[in-house]
Amino acid sequence: MTLAIGVDVGGSKVAAGVVDSSGQIIAKLKRSTPAASPPRTEQAIAEVVTELLASYQVTAIGLGAAGFVDAERATMLFAPNLAWRDEPLKQRVEERLGRAVVVENDANASAWAETRFGAARGYRDVMLVAVGTGIGAAIIIGGELYRGRWGIAGEPGHVRVVPEGRLCGCGNRGCWEQYASGNALVAEAREFARRTPEGAIRLLQLGGGTPEGISGPEITRAATEGDPAALRCFQTVGGWLGQGLADLTAVLDPACFVIGGGVSEAGDLLLDPARAAFDRALTGRGYRPLAEIKVAQLGQDAGIVGAADLAREASQNSVPQTTAPSSPSSGPPGPGSFMRSTSMANPATNAATAQNAANPGTDQPTAVATTR
Ligand SMILES: [Zn+2]
Repeated sequence: MTLAIGVDVGGSKVAAGVVDSSGQIIAKLKRSTPAASPPRTEQAIAEVVTELLASYQVTAIGLGAAGFVDAERATMLFAPNLAWRDEPLKQRVEERLGRAVVVENDANASAWAETRFGAARGYRDVMLVAVGTGIGAAIIIGGELYRGRWGIAGEPGHVRVVPEGRLCGCGNRGCWEQYASGNALVAEAREFARRTPEGAIRLLQLGGGTPEGISGPEITRAATEGDPAALRCFQTVGGWLGQGLADLTAVLDPACFVIGGGVSEAGDLLLDPARAAFDRALTGRGYRPLAEIKVAQLGQDAGIVGAADLAREASQNSVPQTTAPSSPSSGPPGPGSFMRSTSMANPATNAATAQNAANPGTDQPTAVATTR
């Protein structure tokens, strides 16, 4: 059985695992990293991998990183929530390790893992939507990851759904992830507690008495207890999520959406309002099969498992890898002008979506879907 190492590179931590070819993690390590320092993150990656290599023989090493990875799967072009700009991650880590690595977008890695081993097993047309701090996403078409021409397909979190709406970490306004993410959930709850403290007694209690103390786990807990204010937050955010899934369906017609990320741990608290909004917003509803909307199965391990499996696949499909210290294998990182010329800030492409999703989720009926 061939083993591979997968590394999940996030904003505040690096988690690495040795993964077998059936997707099982047989060893795992974690390190904290400062989000603002690419070199220290690269050092942490090299450390955890080196530690695992001391005990396990592996055929490939894959990194799943939170940001835009270029088509050569080598350079981190941009990370909305990290300090990475045109960072040659593959080359830097290979220099430290003396071995080849494959870099992949973290959502791509998770989608691959869920399709091979998790919630979407058996499906060939899958979209993963990871609802965490922001929204990550990945597209699988006909059983293959769809990366786009430049490697950065599948970023619907930055489709603008509200013209001149909330400011996003990417620099634009009104992005979907400002309405359908964990951050949006927290913003809704705090705003509600500020405006209507008498209606948010339980939320405030769990948050230590102030709106600022309310975060995701408190909202989920209150909602689980049946607290109306917390349930209302999930209705709103789930409503935005479902409308966005309907818009994505208009483009991609997937068989299955896998909803991952931290907020998906709330399960049907999030998915029931999302399914209800999806059913309402879907073009041609009643006359077409509905995509499944499922909770991710692999949890936080998906990034590790997917990065390892993609690296293993890449190593099988390419010439045998050398174990010699790698020379910088790719050309220079993409020029900045190339990034700007393909920036998402193109009003023409966003207008239709904005129109389609302009209904705020706040007006949605509070009925919970019972159609599935
Ligand atoms: Zn954005």
